[in-house]
Amino acid sequence: MKSFETFQVQSLDVACDGGGALGHPKVYLHIDPDQGSIVCPYCSRTYVVKLLAGQKKSAH
Ligand SMILES: [Zn+2]
Repeated sequence: MKSFETFQVQSLDVACDGGGALGHPKVYLHIDPDQGSIVCPYCSRTYVVKLLAGQKKSAH
């Protein structure tokens, strides 16, 4: 079993294809801003959103 990887992204919408020969058809994942991360259901990669200061959705 391959160890799962974590990727930091700067967008709530990420495209994942698993990467390389062991990949999967490209899927688009939407990160819930309240959760801040999402796990790809195909390859179990974890995408953690890292928004720049001021971009984070917050209550006013
Ligand atoms: Zn994936």
